Amino acid sequence: MATTPARDGRSRPDGTPYPAARDESEWQARLDPQAYHVLREAGTEAPFTGEYTDTVTPGVYECRACGAELFRSDAKFASHCGWPSFYSPLAGDSVVYLDDRSLGRVRTEVRCASCGGHLGHVFEGEGYPTPTDLRYCINSISLRHVPGA
Ligand SMILES: [Zn+2]
Repeated sequence: MATTPARDGRSRPDGTPYPAARDESEWQARLDPQAYHVLREAGTEAPFTGEYTDTVTPGVYECRACGAELFRSDAKFASHCGWPSFYSPLAGDSVVYLDDRSLGRVRTEVRCASCGGHLGHVFEGEGYPTPTDLRYCINSISLRHVPGA
């Protein structure tokens, strides 16, 4: 099981509380076990298995835990990495970043800025032809797609 960074799950890296924080027992009751494992225990869904890996339908991607709007379909691109990939969040303050040293190297973990739910990681400089050269590699199960313009 992936280790959760040394945070209490209720505060952002800057120490301010997540506005949509809940007790772990509440999250456990509200989320199905797979979603709980990814969102609250920083798990990772298996590649090429998530429901939004290849989704191109226009709309917004919300946090599956708290409903905050996180990503837009127009920033989603085909990375072929096995997970939904975005080159930018919907707004700069939609997500927060944490150092994740769990695999013996530093990766940048991406969490929902509203509830602290684990979303995935962001990678830089991989050469994808996007405006930012960033790849937000996000678990489908952390998201809920809301079709729309
Ligand atoms: Zn959230």
